[in-house]
Amino acid sequence: MKHIGAHVSAAGGPAKAIERAVEIGADALALFTKNQRRWHAKPLSETAIAEFREACAHHGFGPGQILPHDSYLINLGHPERDGLEKSRAAFLDECRRCEQLGLTLLNFHPGSHLGRISEDDCLARIAESINWAHAQTESVVAVIENTAGQGTNLGHRFEHLAAIIEQVDDKSRVGVCIDTCHAFAAGYDLRSAQATTATLDEFGEVVGFDYLRGMHLNDAKSAFASRVDRHHSLGHGNIGLEGFTTLMRDPRLDGIPLILETIEPALWSEEIAWLRAQQAMPRPA
Ligand SMILES: [Zn+2]
Ligand SMILES: [Zn+2]
Repeated sequence: MKHIGAHVSAAGGPAKAIERAVEIGADALALFTKNQRRWHAKPLSETAIAEFREACAHHGFGPGQILPHDSYLINLGHPERDGLEKSRAAFLDECRRCEQLGLTLLNFHPGSHLGRISEDDCLARIAESINWAHAQTESVVAVIENTAGQGTNLGHRFEHLAAIIEQVDDKSRVGVCIDTCHAFAAGYDLRSAQATTATLDEFGEVVGFDYLRGMHLNDAKSAFASRVDRHHSLGHGNIGLEGFTTLMRDPRLDGIPLILETIEPALWSEEIAWLRAQQAMPRPA
C-alpha cells in the first residue's frame, strides 16, 4: 500500500499541517517544524505538541507517514568550523523537535563542499554530523535526500548517499529519500516505464531499498541531467506521467511517505487522486 501526500504548510502550528493533509485526501505529509529560512526558532509549546499528537491519532497518521524536512540553511558538510558547528546545532534542534512531536524521520539535504574541500571529505563530514546528532538523541532517523547537484551540493549520485551511510555508525537510524525531480536533473532517467525501473534497480544496487524511507514526487521544469533544481506539477514537466505511473505500481515503494512538492498546491488533491488511481489500474501486459 502506498502512502501519498504533499508538503503542506504548518502555519498556525504543526497540528494544522495534519488538517491540511486530510483536506487534500492525503495519508502522508511533509512539513517544516520551524521556519525553514531562519536559523533560530522558539521551542515548540506543550500545547502545540499535544495538539499535533492528538491530530495524528485522530486522523490515523503514524510516524512512518510523516516526513518532516529541515531548514534549507543547514550544511552538515560545511568546510569551515563555524559554519559546521552552527549547522550541527540547528540540525540537533530539528531532531529534538521531531522527537517531541513523536516523529521518527527527518529529511535533509546532505550538504555542500563550497569548493573548499574534496567531495570525499565533505561526505565524511556529513556522516560525522549524523553520528554526532545520533549520540545526543534517542530515535530520530536521518533521512538523506538526493539532490540535483546544483552548485557544490553533494548527494546527486546514489554513490554519495551510499558513502555517507557507510560511515554512519548506527545504520538503523539513517535512511534515504529520493526526489524524482532531483534524480532526473542529476541524470537518472524517469521518462519511461523501462527507464524508471532501471533507475530504481540502480538505486537498489548502490544504496539498497532497506534504506528508502520516503520519496518526493515532483515533475521537472529543468532538463534531464541539467543539474538544475526546478520542480513542476505532475505531467507538466520533462519527466511526464509514465514514470509516475510506473512508480505507483512498484511494490518497492510500499509503506513509505510519497510526498508531492509540486509547484501548484491547488492541484495537490487532484495529483494525489491521480497517483492513487495509477496503482489500482491493471499492470500492462
Ligand atoms: Zn528537500
Ligand atoms: Zn525534495
